[in-house]
Amino acid sequence: MNMHRLLLASGLFFSLTLNACLQPNTKQPASTSTIGTEGFFVDAKGDTIHTITKTDAEWKAQLDPASYNVLRQEGTERPFTGKLNANHASGVYLCKACQLPLFSSTAKFESGTGWPSFFQPIDKTHVREITDHSAGMTRVEVVCHRCGGHLGHVFDDGPEPTGLRYCMNSVSLSFEEQ
Ligand SMILES: [Zn+2]
Repeated sequence: MNMHRLLLASGLFFSLTLNACLQPNTKQPASTSTIGTEGFFVDAKGDTIHTITKTDAEWKAQLDPASYNVLRQEGTERPFTGKLNANHASGVYLCKACQLPLFSSTAKFESGTGWPSFFQPIDKTHVREITDHSAGMTRVEVVCHRCGGHLGHVFDDGPEPTGLRYCMNSVSLSFEEQ
């Protein structure tokens, strides 16, 4: 009886440990509101930002093919190919589809991954984070809160002060030097 209980207890412990290992990314989403339901959101500065909804044909006409593939079809550019990966100028990174400011150059760091990497967004309400269970992995997808465009993913192996790594596609961003 005692041995049976012991086995039961160790089995429970093992399954709890296993579950923890299968969920590497435990950060809470920065924003839980849903695009399109209200038509707007209020950012950290108190500005009302109206969300943008366009048809697929409208996005395709507006964006170059590489940007369309990432922003609207959740593609991923090949690493070390994006022109903003090695950009070290001071300024602001905007959503290429709707020009919402997303990241400051002051939060950019060299991750060595071949994709532009940031430790925090310029305003945490300007991006939405969506837990993605595709391809047998748990990842957190990052999208623009104004237009819903796919930007990349966020991982919890970034540097201080946040410990986060926003791994972005260069073609989903435009850069405004300041
Ligand atoms: Zn956008």
